[in-house]
Amino acid sequence: MTRNCRVCNAELGPQEAPRCVTCQSSRFLSNGDAIVAVLERSSMPLATWDVDREARVSLGRRVGWRYAGDDGRLCWGGRRIWGLYRHGLLPGVRTVPKAAAIYIHAAGPIETQALYFVMRRVGYTISPNTLSAVLSYEPWIMRHGWLNVPRSSRTVRNELATELGLARRLTLSDVLNRAGEQVEIHLAEYNARLSTNP
Ligand SMILES: [Zn+2]
Repeated sequence: MTRNCRVCNAELGPQEAPRCVTCQSSRFLSNGDAIVAVLERSSMPLATWDVDREARVSLGRRVGWRYAGDDGRLCWGGRRIWGLYRHGLLPGVRTVPKAAAIYIHAAGPIETQALYFVMRRVGYTISPNTLSAVLSYEPWIMRHGWLNVPRSSRTVRNELATELGLARRLTLSDVLNRAGEQVEIHLAEYNARLSTNP
């Protein structure tokens, strides 16, 4: 099941209200609301300095980033990159290893290079070296030859759900299925490129 804004039908993350900030008429905007409102107008995740500039231009105010990590509506997309669930990022997650591990759970066994391609296409700004390095220590997955394999146990699934901050009818399957669809689309392109550039 997906959650959508009752006004504009945009896809909503588990920690967003039933309407976008922009779709709620005439209300006071907190610092977090202002960041969310700027991101709602963007078609993709943005760097903090782009949000800063846009907030000044379109909302006539400054925004601060000190508590951004605590705002469950914001989805982390890499160092100083933030977006919303509607942009395709995972909710709740704030680190490379957790984001990568969740994509491995959505994808099934996958090589690091393919995973890197998929995550970049989804909108994560991460480095391939960081990705390889952190995956060796991530407890939610196992290494099997070249492949990263999800470690499926009830404990891990509970930890995944907690990490994603799931609430409001959005389930672990909903988030993993959406990530799985992204993997399918971008892996098809990855494989097509491999076959034309062997
Ligand atoms: Zn809306």
